[in-house]
Amino acid sequence: MKTYFHEITLSTDRRFQLIDITHEVEEAVRKSGIRNGLCLVFAPHATAAIVANEHESGLVEDILTKIREFVQPERRWRHNIIDDNAHAHIGSALFGSERIFPVRDGRLIRGTWQNIFLVEMDGPRHRRYVIVEVIGE
Ligand code: ZN
Repeated sequence: MKTYFHEITLSTDRRFQLIDITHEVEEAVRKSGIRNGLCLVFAPHATAAIVANEHESGLVEDILTKIREFVQPERRWRHNIIDDNAHAHIGSALFGSERIFPVRDGRLIRGTWQNIFLVEMDGPRHRRYVIVEVIGE
């Protein structure tokens, strides 16, 4: 069994933002040389998440609108007494920091309308990381 580790570094420029990382993830799978296995996409952050869905500009805004409604950044969360980002922690905890994709015949398997996004909920941030680990043979 082989493993391949790749770290994507990116920056965000809005408080709430979806960043499409599909190309970088697929490039990591290609470079890994692994034909069959799994690809973990993991954000090592407590205030961001990873999701897979369609990259259509209207839908991207719809998802961000729903995330804002859901995590309620204007609410008086307790954590905001020490750090003004409770909403982003809640989003990260509930949407999840990772997604796993199958790898078959050297290609990451995803639906036609499943691009891979980092969900920024506490931007802008100078540095955000996404770890891509491919495991298989
Ligand atoms: Zn915090």
